[in-house]
Amino acid sequence: MRPRRSAVLLAALFLTVTTACTTSSTSDRADGTPRAGATGVDDHLFPALGNGGYDVAHYALELDYVPDDNALEGTAVITARATQDLSRFSLDLAGLRVRHAAVDGSDARFSRKKNKLTLAPARPIRKGETFRTTVRYDGTPRMLTASDGGNEGWIETDDGVAALGEPTGSMTWFPGNHHPSDKATYDIDVTVPSDYTAVSNGTLRETRQRGKRTTFRWHNPEPTASYVASVVTGVFDVSTTTTDDGLPVYTAVDPDEADGPVDVHDLVPEVVDWASDRFGPYPFSSTGAVVDHLPDLGYALETQTRPYFQEAPDTRLVVHELAHQWFGNSVTPRAWQDMWLNEGFATYAEWLWDEEHGHRSAQRTFDSFYDGTHSESDGIWDFPAADLPSAARVSDRPVYGRGAMTLHQLRETVGDRTFFGILRTWTREHRHGNADTEQFIALCEKKSGQDLTELFDTWLFSAEKPDAD
Ligand SMILES: [Zn+2]
Repeated sequence: MRPRRSAVLLAALFLTVTTACTTSSTSDRADGTPRAGATGVDDHLFPALGNGGYDVAHYALELDYVPDDNALEGTAVITARATQDLSRFSLDLAGLRVRHAAVDGSDARFSRKKNKLTLAPARPIRKGETFRTTVRYDGTPRMLTASDGGNEGWIETDDGVAALGEPTGSMTWFPGNHHPSDKATYDIDVTVPSDYTAVSNGTLRETRQRGKRTTFRWHNPEPTASYVASVVTGVFDVSTTTTDDGLPVYTAVDPDEADGPVDVHDLVPEVVDWASDRFGPYPFSSTGAVVDHLPDLGYALETQTRPYFQEAPDTRLVVHELAHQWFGNSVTPRAWQDMWLNEGFATYAEWLWDEEHGHRSAQRTFDSFYDGTHSESDGIWDFPAADLPSAARVSDRPVYGRGAMTLHQLRETVGDRTFFGILRTWTREHRHGNADTEQFIALCEKKSGQDLTELFDTWLFSAEKPDAD
């Protein structure tokens, strides 16, 4: 994500979501009696988010959408493996009406409470078993709105909808395990009126027209955190091409944003090739972008394989969101506390791009953050980048600016060769997985052969602005 105007865009929302629910977990029982999965995964900042007792492998979503009425009908088929004996389990779902639920083909009783849908299968599920949950639902999806005007979830546009899920919005359009620690693959079929296009993650396998409605069938075969799963519908000019390496590129541009500062269709493959040379092989089997017309949204999002831009982006923003494909989407933080592993890295990618394209050096950008002259440096000393005071601050400036400053200090300390070696090892070792700050520091020390405790304490964990040396 990169906020364009306000770094505290979603602050109020985070607070609301965090305090609106409670977490409960069940204790282990020695007698092997099946028990309920936990209704939270112990995320320090978002304790109610996610669910325990199972691990999702795949979501197959069939969505039928009528934009004029903002009416959605959905079927979610969720393939998961039980990590304990389960008597019942929960999914995150906000709003909508659940019409029917089944587990492995047998009707399952279900109940709703706050943002949890709890299912009781007809028979207990055994630990290690793979099971398939089907949920049929419909209704008017709601977006989640922050008091300062920021929105996430199912957001209506002037000609359709954008479903954007960071950090909790995906629960507004499909039931799931909506914590970044449970990544899964996706097949998303979206049916819309035939004058609309429906864009999602991965590759478009097929479009099928029936009468006045068309189904777009999207296949996304690499593990994806649900906050970067997405559907965008509207009227778009679509272009397809391939990168030099043969990677399919699919870009959709709202005609209202056709005259932007850059040609996104050409820029995406150029940035993907550039980033691949620095960060390691591109982690997914397709790429692209969606340029929508929703300027009031105030942020862009790194939706997997196909970043979402709320208006025509500039080059830096494209670099930022594509860098997230490595940092955030392929290597995903295990908990929201480690958001700097997303935003610090994507911000530093912008500094690197500038440095290599005749703009200011990363050192000069660092200096302008340090002395407060950079336009995005306001408030970066409010709290340490890797020690967030609350969920409300998860997308605040320190996570971006101080995160990037930490990486620059690391590069200065270990040298370019080791620094880029660290980045490539990081994206290789945790490709398609989850990781945390401790693992990053351990990797830096291993690759450099140095004790970097003081560096990270100073730049990542200290409350105070470090002294200039
Ligand atoms: Zn970002």
